[in-house]
Amino acid sequence: MTERTFSIIKPDATRRNLTGKINAVIEDAGLRIVAQRRIRMTEGQARKFYEVHAARPFYGELVEFMTSEPVVVQVLEGANAVAKYREVMGATNPADAAPGTIRKLYAESVGENSVHGSDSQENAALEIAQFFTEADIVG
Ligand code: ATP
Ligand code: MG
Repeated sequence: MTERTFSIIKPDATRRNLTGKINAVIEDAGLRIVAQRRIRMTEGQARKFYEVHAARPFYGELVEFMTSEPVVVQVLEGANAVAKYREVMGATNPADAAPGTIRKLYAESVGENSVHGSDSQENAALEIAQFFTEADIVG
């Protein structure tokens, strides 16, 4: 089933000019980039985006990291896009990520792990709505 997921190319990756290389992995996996914008995330946006992790010890560090450099926010579309992109990203910790995944190829650490991808269709819709309107998405 065709669905959408939300992706972020994180600051560790934009800093190293990896946007194009990461987009190539995404597109080679059959996911279509149907919206994309480079932004500097505000502290408010980052706090809201990672609200579910507010009680975790790394929350402050995570918000600081996400606002430290530009990010690229994206909407990806394709068959089973949520699960497919999680597979393409690889495990949260690059040490555990499978060969060929974005995190195995490019992530620096469990915190600075190059990409975000939604973990459910429900969260994908909420996350897309935080950064895009329907008019921004051209399928
Ligand atoms: P994401 O939500 O970014 O796609 P994920 O779903 O694989 O990643 P989560 O458990 O949702 O992982 O954690 C969200 C983000 O918080 C991670 O991607 C990472 O940047 C950061 N993070 C997670 N665990 C740690 C940790 N132990 N130390 C530092 N940062 C962490
Ligand atoms: Mg997550």
